Amino acid sequence: MTPVTVRVPAKVNLQLSVGPRRDDGYHDLMTVFHSVSLFDEVTVRPADRASVRVTGQDASQVPTGRTNLAARAARALAAAVKRRQSGVQIEIRKRIPIAAGLAGGSADAAATLVACNELWQAGLTQAELSEIAAGLGSDVPFALLGGTAIGQGRGERLTAALAAGTYHWVLAFATGGLSTPDVYAACDRLRDAAPVAPPELSTGLMAALRSGDPAAVGLQLSNDLQPAAVSLRPDLRRALAAGEESGALGAIVSGSGPTCAFLAADARQAGELAVALTGAGVCRGVVRVQGPVPGAAVVAGEPG
Ligand code: ATP
Repeated sequence: MTPVTVRVPAKVNLQLSVGPRRDDGYHDLMTVFHSVSLFDEVTVRPADRASVRVTGQDASQVPTGRTNLAARAARALAAAVKRRQSGVQIEIRKRIPIAAGLAGGSADAAATLVACNELWQAGLTQAELSEIAAGLGSDVPFALLGGTAIGQGRGERLTAALAAGTYHWVLAFATGGLSTPDVYAACDRLRDAAPVAPPELSTGLMAALRSGDPAAVGLQLSNDLQPAAVSLRPDLRRALAAGEESGALGAIVSGSGPTCAFLAADARQAGELAVALTGAGVCRGVVRVQGPVPGAAVVAGEPG
């Protein structure tokens, strides 16, 4: 069996509306996911024993044991297809920072599902993979799908969104990460038991996405977790302000943070924004990306 390599994108949330805390501890969400061109790569090879090797961005902080989301994905797929021997060597080349609000771990899980489905010639459909993905984490089904999509429930119930055009972003990475459960807990604290309405899809954002006009989309970006992320990391306020002052059409914390995403009018403005944010010294590093891009997909030929 030849190794299989899959490339998988990070995501930002164009809308992240958080409903009341449910009895099971989760929150009902209404979110609009958008995949961007910052990719991890996962290669799987047959092996007698399961193993995970991680290289690249934040590699030393990624668990390499059974808890790694990619390892969990391989076991879940093996169980679903009743494969007795799930031994597989998983190699993850990370470019998506860890605990950054970009769903890097979920991306690796989705990539591993696609890669093992191919390696084992298991023949599961996208819908079947998506069901296994939902059991692994709320953001995993979207990493399979990619593009721009509405997520409901915990974010795992997906509908593709009608979106025109390509959007140019600058992602500003922070030093250190934020734990997603900590950010939700901070959100609950800030709301202080005030009644919270069920989350609703932003019709303004949907219209802006259909128009393909980045200026309209920029005005409609929203994230209910942003006040919580900023309360835990007050330095993010400076980063967001620096992007706005430098002409970003929209400035938002990505998911649970601490990465900030800035929307530019075009590739040229994205370049200028990247320079301005770097010069302002408000982040650990910046990267220019485009969205939407497709979800987890097998890479032809040798991994790059
Ligand atoms: P999300 O936006 O989905 O909440 P995130 O982008 O903030 O997630 P991740 O990078 O997915 O965060 O990491 C969350 C935690 O998952 C990490 O603290 C890490 O311990 C664990 N983890 C398990 N497997 C992986 C993996 N393959 N890559 C990164 N983190 C992993």
